[in-house]
Amino acid sequence: MTELTDLGLVALRDGVAHGDFTATEVAGAFNAAVAEANGALNAFIVTTPDHALAAAARVDAARAAGEPLGKLAGVPIGMKDLFATKGVQTTAASKILGGFVPPYESSVSQKLWDAGAGLLGKLNLDQFAMGSSNETSAFGNVISPWRATGDAALRAPGGSSGGSSAAVAARIVAAATGTDTGGSIRQPAAFTGITGIKPTYGRCSRWGVVAFASSLDQAGAMARDVTDCAVMLEAMAGFDPKDATSLDLPVPDWRAALSDDLRGRTVGIPREYRLDGLNGDVAASWDQGIAWLKDAGARVVDISLPHTRYALPAYYIIAPAEASSNLARYDGVRYGLRDLPPGANLQDMYAATRAAGFGPEVKRRIMIGTYVLSAGFYDAYYTQAQKVRALIARDFTQAFQDVDVILTPTAPSSAFVLGEKSADPLEMYLNDVFSVPASLAGLPAMSVPAGLDRAGLPLGLHLIGRPFDEQTVLDAGLAIERRAAFVARPAKWW
Ligand code: GLN
Repeated sequence: MTELTDLGLVALRDGVAHGDFTATEVAGAFNAAVAEANGALNAFIVTTPDHALAAAARVDAARAAGEPLGKLAGVPIGMKDLFATKGVQTTAASKILGGFVPPYESSVSQKLWDAGAGLLGKLNLDQFAMGSSNETSAFGNVISPWRATGDAALRAPGGSSGGSSAAVAARIVAAATGTDTGGSIRQPAAFTGITGIKPTYGRCSRWGVVAFASSLDQAGAMARDVTDCAVMLEAMAGFDPKDATSLDLPVPDWRAALSDDLRGRTVGIPREYRLDGLNGDVAASWDQGIAWLKDAGARVVDISLPHTRYALPAYYIIAPAEASSNLARYDGVRYGLRDLPPGANLQDMYAATRAAGFGPEVKRRIMIGTYVLSAGFYDAYYTQAQKVRALIARDFTQAFQDVDVILTPTAPSSAFVLGEKSADPLEMYLNDVFSVPASLAGLPAMSVPAGLDRAGLPLGLHLIGRPFDEQTVLDAGLAIERRAAFVARPAKWW
C-alpha cells in the first residue's frame, strides 16, 4: 500500500475529497513523519501538529456536511519561517526575532488556510533569507536528505528556502512555501530534486512576509511536481490591497490550462549563461533539456542577454541596500530580542540588541547596504546598480520579442557539502549566477528536476518567462518533467 506521505498535494486533496482517506489520517501521517525526521534534518524551527490536526478536522467536518472543499483541503504543508503566522513563533531564523509571536497572519498563509491547508510547522531558512545553503540560520543548518553515492558527507539543501526543500524532498510535507529574492526557491529546489516556482513579482502578496529586499522578494510554491506547484500557486496568488506592489490581476487557472505540447512556441538559450568552465554534468543536463523541449514541439533558438555578467554585482548592491533599510526596524523596541546592558541609553540598547541578535552574514549585508547608500558612494554604487538593473530587464524584454520562454541550468553545481563555501561569501554568492537576473527583472521562473549528476545528486533546469506568463513556464516545466521522468528519491537514513 502506498503510504499517505508518498502522495503529493493534488493526490491528497483528491483522495480526501473522494473519501479514500480522511484529512485527519493524512495530518496524522505527516505529523509522524515530521517527528521522525526533524531531529536529523533540522528542517523545522517549530512544529505545529495541533494546527495540522485542527485544519484537518475542519475539512473532514465540511466534507461530512456536504460543504464545498477548498483547493488545498486536507493538504498539510510547511511554511517558511519568513511568513508571519498568527499565534505561532516567526523568527526569519534570526535570534533578533527569537520568541516573536505575531498577532496577525500573512496574506499568503491566510489564503492557504482558507483553501483548506494545514500547518505542520515553520521551516528553517537562511537568516532573513540571506544565503544559499541554510548555514546562516541561527537555529542550526538544515541537512539535505540527499547524499552523494558512496559519500556520507552532509550536504546543503540549498538556500534560503532550505527547510522547505529538504522537507518536500524527504516527503515529510506535501508541499511548502518558499520566498525568492535572488534564487531562494529555485536553487534549493534544484539541489533537492523538487519543483519550485517563483511567480512574476507582485503575484503573491508580501504583506506579513519578513522583508529582505522589498523590490525583489516574492513568495512561491515548492512541491513534488509541476501540477502541485500550479495548484499551490493558484491558492497563494492574488491581489492584496495591503501590499502596494501587489498585482491587481485575476489569478489564472494554471492547472486547467497545463499542457506539455509546445508546438508553436519558441525557447531561447542565452549564450552568456554558457560560462567558461561550466560543470560538465550541468552542461550536459542543459543540452538534454534542449532536446526534451524540441521533442515537445518547441523551436529552440540561441539568444543574447548581453548584460548578464553584471547581474550578480548589481544584485549584491541592491539587495543589501534594501536590506539595510528594512532591517533598521529591529531595534529592540518593538519586536523580539532586547539587550539592555546596565546603565545603557537608547543608542546603547540598539547597538547591543543588534550585535547580539543579527548573525554575521546579516551584519555583513547591513554594512554593505549602508555603505552603498551613504552620501559619498550612492551614485557610484546604488545608482549604477539600478541602471544595470534596467539594462538587464531590457535584455529580457528584447529577447521575449522572439522567444516565449528561456531555458538555463538552475545552479552551476549540484548540492555542495556543508561548510565547503561558508568561509568565503563571494564563493557562496556565485551560486546565484543563473537565478539572479530573472529576479532583477521581476520575471516568473521555475526549477524542475532534470536528473542526477555523476555523484548521484539532483540537477535542476531553469525556465524564465515573460511577465505574468507563468503558464508558459509551467507548460515547459511539464514538458521537461514528463521527459525527465525523475523518480529518484533520497535513500532514507534519518
Ligand atoms: N542566495 C541569495 C542571497 O543570499 C538569494 C537569497 C534569496 O533569494 N532569498 O541573497
